Amino acid sequence: MPEKTEGGFCWHQSEFTPFGWCPDFEKRLKNIKETAPQDICNRLIVLFKPVRGQIPEEVVRAKQLHLEAMQAYHKAREADEEAIQTHKGSITTHNMTWKAYQEAPPENKEILKQKYEKSKNDCFDAKERQQQTQQAHNKASKICIESVRNYKKVLAKHIETIEALHRKECPECPWNGRAIFSEVV
Ligand SMILES: [Zn+2]
Repeated sequence: MPEKTEGGFCWHQSEFTPFGWCPDFEKRLKNIKETAPQDICNRLIVLFKPVRGQIPEEVVRAKQLHLEAMQAYHKAREADEEAIQTHKGSITTHNMTWKAYQEAPPENKEILKQKYEKSKNDCFDAKERQQQTQQAHNKASKICIESVRNYKKVLAKHIETIEALHRKECPECPWNGRAIFSEVV
């Protein structure tokens, strides 16, 4: 049974995964117990465990970069989403101030015109800000995709070391190259 509560490299976090990164061992274990069919669950709770030995440094670094890129991506996406909402809000305000200006009696026109002009500028600013967050979002997405590619490449480079570690730490393993069940082809 997994002992760590934080994320880390692990063996068999699903019946189709020999090795991977698990962001939260306890959460994953709970999820396995709650969702996996009984026979799969029974096998997984024995096989799913943190890697104890040394994962090649290059793999650790590549995973770290990927996690950081993911975090940056989520942050950029949230900022973009927020900017989209702000822009939408500024359009609504702009429409309202325009309507108020159009319908105002002559003595109120000047003050409402100022409000209308301000809302127009706010709208342009919000649009500009959203274009920036969109660019940052796209850039973060590309970096994230690139970090996954890099991680896979590095993993492939060190696969023999990891497989050797797997054999050592997971003896009697039913992994057949595709799943932990020998009957799966
Ligand atoms: Zn195994």
